Amino acid sequence: MSLKSRFVGTAKRQMKQTLRPVLQRAMAPARTEIPASYWGLEREPSQGLTLEGVPLKELVERWGSPLHVVHLAALRRNAERFQAVPPGCTAGCEVFYSYKTNPVPGVLSVLHGMGVGAEIISAYELWLALKLGVPADRIVYNGPVKSEASVREAISQGIQLLAANHAEELGSFARIAAEVGKRPRVAVRVSTDSGWAAQFGTPIAGGAALRAYAQARASANLDVVGLHAHRGATIRTEGEFTGFVEAVLAFTDTLHLELGLDLEVLDLGGSLCTPSVEHIAERDWRLNLTFFRDVPAPDPAQALGISRYVSLAVEMVESHYARQGRQRPRIFLEPGRAMTGDTQLLLGRVHTLKSGEDRTWAVLDMGVNHAECVRNEYHQLFHVDRPDAPASRVYTVVGPICTPGDTLYHAKRLPDLVPGDTLAIMDAGAYFVPFATSFSYPQPAIIALEEDGTDRLLRRAETFEDQVALDAVDPVQVNRAQQNKTEAA
Ligand SMILES: *Cc1c(COP(=O)(O)O)cnc(C)c1O
Repeated sequence: MSLKSRFVGTAKRQMKQTLRPVLQRAMAPARTEIPASYWGLEREPSQGLTLEGVPLKELVERWGSPLHVVHLAALRRNAERFQAVPPGCTAGCEVFYSYKTNPVPGVLSVLHGMGVGAEIISAYELWLALKLGVPADRIVYNGPVKSEASVREAISQGIQLLAANHAEELGSFARIAAEVGKRPRVAVRVSTDSGWAAQFGTPIAGGAALRAYAQARASANLDVVGLHAHRGATIRTEGEFTGFVEAVLAFTDTLHLELGLDLEVLDLGGSLCTPSVEHIAERDWRLNLTFFRDVPAPDPAQALGISRYVSLAVEMVESHYARQGRQRPRIFLEPGRAMTGDTQLLLGRVHTLKSGEDRTWAVLDMGVNHAECVRNEYHQLFHVDRPDAPASRVYTVVGPICTPGDTLYHAKRLPDLVPGDTLAIMDAGAYFVPFATSFSYPQPAIIALEEDGTDRLLRRAETFEDQVALDAVDPVQVNRAQQNKTEAA
């Protein structure tokens, strides 16, 4: 490095350090934390944060760290809200949980026990739903990749809805249906202007969706009963949702007018937000990285909640059909993140601290290997042991996997940490478990916490042996063979 560039580098760093405290104060976001009570957590002076009367610290002492904790009361509350009949309406919605969001059998079976069905996007998920005893008429099969064998199985079993992602799938559905000798209940996945498109769905704009319906209807082997639309882009506001539903309803009118098709099922997909989680805006991320300005916390009260979302869905569909004197279709919802996001938390411990010029690194035993979403979403972090201590020091909170990408929080103000302290990452119930990698470290255990404070294991932690259990070269065997050779020599 030249003398000049070194000088510029030093000057820049000094400038940042001088500006940081000024900017932190001048540009402080209105809200930097969501209160612990939002998740039903309580602060006990001697025990730290507790849930259902149980100190969280005790859970990691008992089960090990890191640890996923499923809060069953929250899970049941969300499932009830999705399935409630809104006041003044004749019926509510039928709910199918998106398996890929948190495919933990212990979580799925709680939902199924409450009458929630399965929304699946793969042959594996079909297998899992059937193994868990989900009746075929409580399964909706979506996604752009459906193996021949899984479509055959789905049709043989008589699943509730088989959704063609694109027109090209309809041909194979019809062929397999003819071979099986059953007429599957089919939908076409359509995409509106406001959500995801790309490989997902058949666009309404330009007429592709209408042509796909005409093609499906022309096949005697397919029973075209439904429409599927999953927005993809997360829904946080009423406007985002109503705009999407309006576009879908307008297309149902087109189907009625052009093809004389009256749908039995309107599947509005998922995409409703977890209110306490929000994508971190690019600008906020940069300010946090450069000037240690706190990342603004979302205001959960401002986000569209489950009950209001369900009411809107039912009211909009009912009034649209009532105006035309047509019968209201059944409404399906496929929540993922909104169902389980805020019903799980991830506990971990501070392994070590490393002090630097302008900050301290807190190196945890959990990182992006267990919490990929924290890289670009706001997730509340709590100091479990001393939640009330003033958050006075700025930490860069990182994980164990030896890559600069393993940064959970670039600059996070926390109470003073010491090795062994327990931290809680909130809202770990959507896309944490399925996106986890076993990069250098096995996966943590998952437990469920009941309302009476009792807990039970849903999935044990992976062992080292689990990591190599599928290998043809088994290190345990290799080691034994070597020992035998040494002994023989
Ligand atoms: C992923 C997915 C969902 C759930 O999405 P969320 O954003 O988690 O609610 C629902 N339906 C389909 C088709 C999906 O692919």
